[in-house]
Amino acid sequence: MSGIEKYDVVIVGLGPAGATLSYFLGKTDLKVIGIDMVSWTQVWGKPCGDAIGAHHFEEIGLPEPRGSELRKRVDGILIYSPSEEHIVKVDGKGYMIDRGELGRRVISDAQKMGVTVRLRTQALRPYFEGNSLKGVMVRDLDKGKPYVIEAKVVVDATGNSGVIRRRLPEEWPVNEKLKSTDSNIAYREVIELEDNIERPNYIRIYLNKEIAPGGYWWFFPEGNNVVNTGLGIQGGRGYKLPTELFKEKLMNRPEFVRKVVKVYRAGGSTVPTRRPANTLVWHNFIGIGDNAFTVNPVHGGGMGYAFYSAYLASKVILRAFETGDFTAKGLWDLNLSYMRTLGSKQASLDIFRMFLQELSNEEIEFGIKNRIMDARGAYETSVTGELKANLGLLDKLAVVLRGIKKPLLLLKLAKVADYMKKAKEHYLKYPDDPTALNRWIFELNKIYENFKRDIGVTF
Ligand SMILES: Cc1cc2nc3c(=O)[nH]c(=O)nc-3n(C[C@H](O)[C@H](O)[C@H](O)COP(=O)(O)OP(=O)(O)OC[C@H]3O[C@@H](n4cnc5c(N)ncnc54)[C@H](O)[C@@H]3O)c2cc1C
Repeated sequence: MSGIEKYDVVIVGLGPAGATLSYFLGKTDLKVIGIDMVSWTQVWGKPCGDAIGAHHFEEIGLPEPRGSELRKRVDGILIYSPSEEHIVKVDGKGYMIDRGELGRRVISDAQKMGVTVRLRTQALRPYFEGNSLKGVMVRDLDKGKPYVIEAKVVVDATGNSGVIRRRLPEEWPVNEKLKSTDSNIAYREVIELEDNIERPNYIRIYLNKEIAPGGYWWFFPEGNNVVNTGLGIQGGRGYKLPTELFKEKLMNRPEFVRKVVKVYRAGGSTVPTRRPANTLVWHNFIGIGDNAFTVNPVHGGGMGYAFYSAYLASKVILRAFETGDFTAKGLWDLNLSYMRTLGSKQASLDIFRMFLQELSNEEIEFGIKNRIMDARGAYETSVTGELKANLGLLDKLAVVLRGIKKPLLLLKLAKVADYMKKAKEHYLKYPDDPTALNRWIFELNKIYENFKRDIGVTF
């Protein structure tokens, strides 16, 4: 293939975000092409914990995993304190999935509905005519010859690589850099163990700064004796590499010593763990999924957020073809619909994430032991982005100030709750139109700067 090909929409990257968008656009009459540099067997191959809440499928009407796409049903999460003496149990339905199988099904459904899918095709850069984004320069990885795919809307769903977004003009606000301290570097292995796992329907999260500084380590059973286990650490802080910590700290635990029968898969990657990009759109351009930092900043789960941003993008793209307006203004509804829902939750959880990253093991232990946040609070915080902690403890402070070991922690927590609310409210006031974006970003940055100063966040 050479020369120029014309489509309505080109989706670059067919991971969870791009594949979901191709699925929903497949239901329309638009002429859509999705490309990815991987082959069919490597689809959705990014290393992952493979856990996802059932509600992410239900909310947008994406068929849930079934048959070989589903490895195990999940009934809830157990969150362990650093000493592992205290556990918070959060019930909630979810799945351990086979990403490859699910990804191939979503993509082939899109194909059946008329989307052109081209694998082993690498996007090289955005294609401009003058100042206008017109498409993507791509290369067939087998035949080697570069060619252009033209489209009215170019979607970057390439995750961290951001091959299109990062090459857009510097002055386009959508070209935003990810700070390394706003990311987690994660590594995992899928391991067969000698013994059956206890309570295999509960995935486990362990908060322990010695094992996973600025993140957590996880133990997610995906079979009766097969587990997806790994850890994520905050980037940019000079911590040891996750691969080293995995070997030194995890593999020396009793769960694993002399119990590993086989390692099925091993690998790592980076996850953005912050609020969403300030804008998901610009002229003729949309970014979704990890590419636009649509991830839960506290637990780093990004598949559900990728699905949701893709689903909203499909609606906005359809509307843009009705109005014929593909400028930032014409695509702006994606910002309004994302920022005022999941985006606002992400923003407040971003505050909570930074607070957590500054806590010591002792403080985390105190919080879990004293049930400052119980199971219901943890669940509601993660759903609403509002801190549902037992701040009633504060009322008792006057009486027990000398008796209580961590008054400062509780006072800080009250401030954190306040800033979480402020951040969320600011996102609910996301500007109606691109001309007010800079002002909004300025005020947003002030909230985060004040928070960091008041709480003593050092990064
Ligand atoms: C170790 C680890 C564990 C995780 N655990 C979980 C978890 O348990 N649950 C959860 O929900 N999330 C988890 N996440 C996050 C989750 O994996 C991501 O949020 C999710 O994959 C994002 O989907 P995406 O489609 O935006 O990006 P990606 O999955 O990164 O997909 C991007 C696609 O773009 C393609 N691409 C990239 N560059 C180009 C190019 N130049 N040309 C053509 N194609 C290109 C890639 O091949 C890929 O197919 C984890 C992440 C890591 C690293």
